[in-house]
Amino acid sequence: MAADYLVLDLEWNQPVDPAAPQLQNLKTTLNGEIIQIGAVTLNAKGKITGTYTWLVRPTFLRQMHYHVRSLTGLTMQKVKKGILFAEANRQLAALCSPETLLLTWGPDDIHILRQNLLLHNLENWVGEWCDLQRVYAQQMGATGQTSLQSAMEALHIQADRPAHDALNDAWFTALIAQKLDLKLGLEQYRDYVRLQEKKKLARAKRRQKHPLAGKTGTGYAHRGDAFQDPQLGRMRCPSCKHPLKQTSWFKLDKHRFVAMGVCPQHGRFIGQIRLTRSPQEEKWQGKRWIYAASPERLAQFEAVRQKKSARQRVKKGG
Ligand SMILES: [Zn+2]
Repeated sequence: MAADYLVLDLEWNQPVDPAAPQLQNLKTTLNGEIIQIGAVTLNAKGKITGTYTWLVRPTFLRQMHYHVRSLTGLTMQKVKKGILFAEANRQLAALCSPETLLLTWGPDDIHILRQNLLLHNLENWVGEWCDLQRVYAQQMGATGQTSLQSAMEALHIQADRPAHDALNDAWFTALIAQKLDLKLGLEQYRDYVRLQEKKKLARAKRRQKHPLAGKTGTGYAHRGDAFQDPQLGRMRCPSCKHPLKQTSWFKLDKHRFVAMGVCPQHGRFIGQIRLTRSPQEEKWQGKRWIYAASPERLAQFEAVRQKKSARQRVKKGG
């Protein structure tokens, strides 16, 4: 029978040289190659039903990072005796059903697992998971990221075996899980994830709404002079200052004009110029902003550009 909960802990090796040529053409960045997997299964009541550990033979990294070696005690010689990742993964996945909730201490293990699945061209079987570190913080009133060791001390769990071993850390995490309200914790965690997604969306929206760059120009005798002024009419990338390859300025309404610009590195941007007449000197002045090319702004720009070309076709035809 598949586990109701599976506590997962991974140990991974890190590249000594992330710029090494053999790491460049992989399917994704390799932040860590899994070398040891620890798993503890629990039933719905939180009772431990099994413990599992796998030593994984590396595929990508040929050298053990000294930091990983000193932390875990694992050497290349040792992990080479392990089984291939695909096989360890198959056995791990077999413990789970789609309803099994994965529990980890912190978010890193799941990210590394997904990354390794992708690197090995294996199916991403990871369903819903819950970061117990987050649940612990919420239920114990802790702030920031509590280490496994500190959480164990606070909950009076004895460290009766060495840490930084995948199974031992999974075991300790399982003991912590038993002291927390898992049902409530999952609800809290889901709320937390929803909130983070909302915040992310709001941040993206804010970035799209607010201009990324602005410029002003004054003293134009004719309106058209504003577009000839390179300070106003020519846009540069807000990220790298590279001159944008841009369209001409199209009239949006009485006072506003829009153009699209492209940076070879940072993609498309929408520029907007607003022209007003300065009453004192009877001259035109302009303000220009550059915005992220949101779908709304792109659609607005395309509509204006198409209207203009339709007008031109009518003129030529008539
Ligand atoms: Zn750029």
